[in-house]
Amino acid sequence: MSETDTIAEDVARNLADVREAIAKAARAIDRDPSEVTLVAVSKQHDPARIQAAIDAGQRVFGENRVQEAQGKFPALKECHPDLELHLLGPLQSNKAEDAVALFDVIESVDRPKIARALAKEMDRQNRRPELFIQVNTGEEPQKAGVVPGELDALVHLCRDELSLPVVGLMCIPPIEEEPAPHFALLAKLAAEHGFERLSMGMSHDFETAVKLGATHVRVGTAIFGQRPKP
Ligand SMILES: *Cc1c(COP(=O)(O)O)cnc(C)c1O
Repeated sequence: MSETDTIAEDVARNLADVREAIAKAARAIDRDPSEVTLVAVSKQHDPARIQAAIDAGQRVFGENRVQEAQGKFPALKECHPDLELHLLGPLQSNKAEDAVALFDVIESVDRPKIARALAKEMDRQNRRPELFIQVNTGEEPQKAGVVPGELDALVHLCRDELSLPVVGLMCIPPIEEEPAPHFALLAKLAAEHGFERLSMGMSHDFETAVKLGATHVRVGTAIFGQRPKP
């Protein structure tokens, strides 16, 4: 069997396992598994692996760098117009133009400057990707995301002043902490602001996230294997 066949089999099997684990976690709390969207995080993986996931029926993908995604996804999107591409990584305002042009969902809105840059580009391009606001639930100084105390003001700016299509909140809990309290906090903040979507949970904690209300889980390693070292 060729190496490509083996990769395709691995990815298909991993995807089936992850989907089954999501369904099991959802059913455990009487949620309909179809309420949870699996975002397959393909950053640092080559198009062959992404193609294997597409062949196995996966349509929603996440990347964390605009430039890397620009190198991989336009061709894939051309062949599969139903692909939905999410931006997960920190966004610089000088990349807002490219991000609005390529991505269908931008999950990393975290400050006024980015919100304003996205609003301007959306008007200019007449294209409106859905947005999530990233919350730094652990208040880690080095991490992207708005701290909970500043969320109110950012939501107000995005929704009321800029009329941006914000649909939910996203978080990445601190690596060394129990994720559940962070997921619960994100769910509480979303409820307070009337957001129905919650992007939380990665390879090692997506089942916990589903049990705490995630509508989007972002899973990379458990689908595609370890990322190649940069
Ligand atoms: C890389 C990444 C993921 C996926 O992480 P895995 O542990 O490989 O599942 C999820 N979310 C964000 C924001 C990421 O950057």
